[in-house]
Amino acid sequence: MKRFVPQHYQNWTKHLLLASAFLFLIVLTYFCLFQLNRFSTDVAHAQVQLALILSASFIPVGLSWISFRSLGLILFLPFSGSLAVLTSSVTHSPLFLIFIPAHVVFCLLLFYVDQKKGAQIIDCNVEIEKAINEKNDLEIAYQEKGIGISAFFKKYTSYYNLRSLANEFSSTLSLKELCQTIVTRTMGLVGAGLNAAPASCLLLLSEGEGGNLSLMASKSLPSEKSIKSKSGDIFDFWILRNRQSLIVADTQKDFRFDLKKTAESREIRSLISSPIIHEGKAMGTMRMQSPHASSFTTDDLRILDAISTLASSAVSNSILFHKTEELAIKDSLTGLYVQRYFLERLNDEHKRSLMSGVALTLLMCDLDHFKACNDRYGHGIGDLILTKTSDLLRTRAEHGIVARYGGEEFSILLPRLARREGLSLAETIRRDLEQMNVTVRREAIPMTISIGVASIPEDTLDSEGLIQIADARLYKAKKNGRNCVCGGD
Ligand code: GH3
Ligand code: MG
Ligand code: MG
Repeated sequence: MKRFVPQHYQNWTKHLLLASAFLFLIVLTYFCLFQLNRFSTDVAHAQVQLALILSASFIPVGLSWISFRSLGLILFLPFSGSLAVLTSSVTHSPLFLIFIPAHVVFCLLLFYVDQKKGAQIIDCNVEIEKAINEKNDLEIAYQEKGIGISAFFKKYTSYYNLRSLANEFSSTLSLKELCQTIVTRTMGLVGAGLNAAPASCLLLLSEGEGGNLSLMASKSLPSEKSIKSKSGDIFDFWILRNRQSLIVADTQKDFRFDLKKTAESREIRSLISSPIIHEGKAMGTMRMQSPHASSFTTDDLRILDAISTLASSAVSNSILFHKTEELAIKDSLTGLYVQRYFLERLNDEHKRSLMSGVALTLLMCDLDHFKACNDRYGHGIGDLILTKTSDLLRTRAEHGIVARYGGEEFSILLPRLARREGLSLAETIRRDLEQMNVTVRREAIPMTISIGVASIPEDTLDSEGLIQIADARLYKAKKNGRNCVCGGD
């Protein structure tokens, strides 16, 4: 019954059945009394009718059993029994009493069915309970597996990100570009863990070992103020001194740092920072900061540590590459460009000059009587004079390309400078060099320089011609008695 009748109809159905059973019993009682009344006139017919009525009394007993199981039987059995006793006593026929044991047997049968069904229901309930327990166990296992899978997925994602980061870092050798890539990618990876707090990422590198820190790259969220400080602060110096990572949940409560020492530190409430260490040397720091307290977790710091480890080898590779590149294009004694690189630049500037129609001037310079100076004061002093001369040329021609063309011979390329301006600069150099003070054992060494000047387009349009003309004019300056500038006039 339960299976076919919806829950909210079940009580209603039960009551209907019980009411029907009552009605049925009342009707039966009425007919029974009616037939008993007729019994004296029509015995045979009334007897048959009474037997039928008593047989029908099984129906309300059954209906009450359906509605209220054993309780229903207890309610209706006395009624039907009483009808049998009444009929038997009025008709003086003990045959009708047979209905009493018949009813009892019927009830026992129903009772037996009920018990069996009850046992089955208990079995079913046990099975259901088992199934529910299994379902709960499976749910717990599923949840545990789910947690395990999501932890594994998280780990896999960070490994994958770090691997792609390593590839990205090794794809560029430009230090500036590399540092910008590092901070941009770090913002993307570590910033994901932020509690909706705006943050910035900074990368600082030291100029040489133990040198000052300078900001190489930084990135801030649009809502955040841009980074003002271009050098390291108390947090960076702490990192470099201790050579370990740092997490500060709230700068105002962390007694390790005196915020009065740096102006910008007051705007930082929480931060994580890692040192950039390569081959035992602390090269700089990486930092993420936020104006809100507790914006970072130890997991964030772990990721930052991993990134700074990757960054350290990429940064040192880049620095090494630039050093090697410098060594290839710069003279080791003077730090000026070597002749090969100078000629390459001359080619480029020559093309640019012809294409854009702007002037290009070349100065060829040669120290006077340098051999004699070397012979008299020694090679060491000669080297010192070469270094001092190089420094002077570099500062005077700061927008030009200055090279050591040969031993004591220098070339200066001046893009966008016409011959007249070139001559004027050459004259300044000559005069300043004459006054350059090199003293050995309290004796001032007199030093002079001769300079040949040639320009595009005034003298030639050809790059090789430019060198030849400047060289010829240098030779002329030497012939004219040295310590002079020759521009062709
Ligand atoms: P001039 O006025 O005609 O130019 O005479 P000069 O003596 O300067 O010219 P010369 O070409 O005869 O001598 C150049 C000297 O420069 C010869 C060499 O000893 C010296 N020299 C070249 N390279 C170096 C260097 O790297 N260090 C030192 N100390 N001397 C060098
Ligand atoms: Mg010389
Ligand atoms: Mg020479």
